[in-house]
Amino acid sequence: RVEPNAHEWHLKDELIPMEIIEELAEMGVFGLTIPEEFGGFGLSKASMVVVSEELSRGYIGVGSLGTRSEIAAELIICGGTDEQKQAWLPKLASGEILPTAVFTEPNTGSDLGSLRTRAVKTDEGWEITGNKTWITHAARTHVMTLLARTDPDTTDHRGLSMFLAEKTPGTDDNPFPTPGMTGGEIEVLGYRGMKEYELGFDGFKVKEENLLGGETGQGFKQLMQTFESARIQTAARAIGVAQAALDVAMQYAIDRKQFGKSLIEFPRVSGKLAMMAVEIMIARQLTYYSAWQKDHDKRCDLEAGMAKLLGARVAWAAADNGLQIHGGNGFALEYKISRILCDARILNIFEGAAEIQAQVIARRLLG
Ligand SMILES: Cc1cc2nc3c(=O)[nH]c(=O)nc-3n(C[C@H](O)[C@H](O)[C@H](O)COP(=O)(O)OP(=O)(O)OC[C@H]3O[C@@H](n4cnc5c(N)ncnc54)[C@H](O)[C@@H]3O)c2cc1C
Repeated sequence: RVEPNAHEWHLKDELIPMEIIEELAEMGVFGLTIPEEFGGFGLSKASMVVVSEELSRGYIGVGSLGTRSEIAAELIICGGTDEQKQAWLPKLASGEILPTAVFTEPNTGSDLGSLRTRAVKTDEGWEITGNKTWITHAARTHVMTLLARTDPDTTDHRGLSMFLAEKTPGTDDNPFPTPGMTGGEIEVLGYRGMKEYELGFDGFKVKEENLLGGETGQGFKQLMQTFESARIQTAARAIGVAQAALDVAMQYAIDRKQFGKSLIEFPRVSGKLAMMAVEIMIARQLTYYSAWQKDHDKRCDLEAGMAKLLGARVAWAAADNGLQIHGGNGFALEYKISRILCDARILNIFEGAAEIQAQVIARRLLG
């Protein structure tokens, strides 16, 4: 249902059809790791990794749909009140509610703690004002996990709070119908299917009870608690993309003949495929290990950072080598490997860029 259609969705720059999302929801993809008492399957992070990997092998856009629900649910499980858990988790698990993560701002990416969007307390709740950017799947979703500054006297992570900001899902004609909120699409190279948006908030209203945990100043800490899982999951997506590159490159090397032989019979070609398989295996094992650590309540920022850093590099190398094996055809939009190359490129940028992962790893080495 996914792999045969992914290339067309990419080329036409379309949203992943709602039927696919509904079928994923029926299969339980959005509630994999949510505890059973809240309507999920209560499975391990390791199983989430396998699912993310395999869906991303079909299409990174589909593999990333679950990421959003997973992280929103983890934010609520770790930082939410009992009422918030009861209210949100079952709907996230069933896919009835699709969330989007709203953190990055035009002037604040890696240094998230310095963000400027502010939330001001009113008699009825909160009002959000500011600009956000690079918000994936912003239009079609029902709730934003939105990080904003509630303490105007701060400039660092201490004055931030997390909100479960409800919005009305948009349509093609009216992507952002909710009052106080506007948005514009950012056209992108790859990682399509959910679309990227910049958002503007002007007195956007959030209910009082939708401050995560019911306490201000906790937002950055709450988000940090999800970093390990998010990185493990992104590593899993990277492995899926790398595996897709190996799959299509291997098939092409078998089918394509030059000098009277299949390309795969030339050692420089088969050697590339062999190294792809080796690197994918290493990245996969490191990711499984990180997930295992997480499942056993062990600190794993180091391992998760390594898995994410390595996975993104392995995906890029596999896509690049896969394209090389396709020769001129690899450069044609018509061939899947051209999309896989574009999709692979994002993995080194989001969920903590490569340089930030390296910093996390180096800090731990020094510590
Ligand atoms: C396709 C896509 C989807 C995204 N989806 C979302 C989303 O859904 N929600 C959301 O909130 N955000 C999202 N993001 C934003 C993403 O998380 C940021 O792009 C990322 O955090 C990097 O921030 P930046 O782009 O501002 O780059 P900058 O922070 O400006 O960094 C630019 C470069 O400088 C390097 N750099 C920065 N600081 C340091 C340092 N201290 N040491 C060494 N190097 C450094 C970076 O590694 C990078 O190479 C998405 C981005 C993209 C491109």
